[in-house]
Amino acid sequence: MMSKAPVTPPYFDETHEALRASVSRFVDQEIMPHIDDWEEQNTFPKEVYKKAGDAGFLGLGYPEEFGGTPGDQFHKLVFSEEIMKTTSGGLVASLGSLDIAIPPIAKWGSKALKEKVLPAVIAGDKIAALAITEPSGGSDVAGIKTRAEKVAVDGKEFYKVNGSKTFITSGMRADFYTVAVRTGGEGYGGISLLMIEKGTPGFTTGRNLKKMCWWASDTAELFFEDCLVPVENLIGAENTGFFAIMTNFQSERLMLTAMANATSQIALEECMNYVKEREAFGRPIGKYQVIKHKLVEMATKLEVSKTMMYNVAANMDAGIDQVKAVSMAKNFATDTSDFITYEAVQIFGGMGLMRESKVERLYRDNRILSIGGGTREIMNEIISKQLGL
Ligand SMILES: Cc1cc2nc3c(=O)[nH]c(=O)nc-3n(C[C@H](O)[C@H](O)[C@H](O)COP(=O)(O)OP(=O)(O)OC[C@H]3O[C@@H](n4cnc5c(N)ncnc54)[C@H](O)[C@@H]3O)c2cc1C
Repeated sequence: MMSKAPVTPPYFDETHEALRASVSRFVDQEIMPHIDDWEEQNTFPKEVYKKAGDAGFLGLGYPEEFGGTPGDQFHKLVFSEEIMKTTSGGLVASLGSLDIAIPPIAKWGSKALKEKVLPAVIAGDKIAALAITEPSGGSDVAGIKTRAEKVAVDGKEFYKVNGSKTFITSGMRADFYTVAVRTGGEGYGGISLLMIEKGTPGFTTGRNLKKMCWWASDTAELFFEDCLVPVENLIGAENTGFFAIMTNFQSERLMLTAMANATSQIALEECMNYVKEREAFGRPIGKYQVIKHKLVEMATKLEVSKTMMYNVAANMDAGIDQVKAVSMAKNFATDTSDFITYEAVQIFGGMGLMRESKVERLYRDNRILSIGGGTREIMNEIISKQLGL
């Protein structure tokens, strides 16, 4: 029988492949020579934003008039898949914080707000962060406590903001923050989004939190004490913030799905090589059936997970509601990456716990993926509602 090429939906065309090659070069030249040092230093130089901006990577999917490069979900996925080859979730999350912070401004911000924030962030000159989570909780977005009260000062209108945020990615070094605040009554109907700039009196950053994962990223506490924010910084209409946050979560969840699948892919590839080299009892460990079957299960789960992700991305591009599907895809991808990174460390044995092996960092960095952007349990809550339960 003649062998035929496998049939795959035509998700990637020449524009995606050109982008893949360009991101891959960027990763090899600009990041790989330094990433291990940056991880140990718990940071990376700000110039990386500028270089990524100059290469056009930060503006993928944003309008050209603000310096962006229009594209579809698959351009974003290609960028995620390639940049994850740095094996630094921290660097990826930091470079990616703009993608959770600026979409509400691009969609609902005033013209002046768009002109102020989007070009500077897309160029890599400024950094943007999204601040929703509070010390009292992140899952219950409708319960946020940070208050923004309208006041007049010297004839000008401001929101006076009081409260605090925590676990904010890029929180230490961002310039622009998209902040969820309570402008109205209790519950989801009282929430708005405000753009708050670093340096606004009454706004301070606290600790750069030390963490298990994402060492190269900064994760901060933010404090607002009688912080006066111009009313022009309101993103969209007052008290419609909850809808904006939930809309924003859809693309964040797809990107976290992509990070989980890329984590699984790299861990699996590392194992495929290692089992051929590493010998025990006079044989390469890959010759043992128990190891082979582990690898088969890893590869099978990953294949299913990637298929789900691409399907969700294609439907998003077609404008079809993916609230249920993206929550399912995220949970499936993170279950898969939990399984694969655990087994990868197991297959590497002692070497799997050494910082010199890639699987050690993949294992640590993976742990956040079923918590950030909505936990596994919250995804299941969303899915159950969508199923009518
Ligand atoms: C490294 C890192 C980076 C982050 N970056 C950002 C950022 O940039 N911006 C931002 O706003 N936030 C950020 N977060 C916060 C993240 O989104 C939250 O940690 C997450 O949403 C969970 O909130 P929580 O930690 O307060 O947990 P909680 O909400 O306190 O939940 C605790 C546990 O209870 C479970 N639970 C809660 N409610 C239910 C329920 N109804 N049913 C069943 N189980 C439930 C949860 O699933 C979880 O297991 C980041 C977190 C980390 C660790």
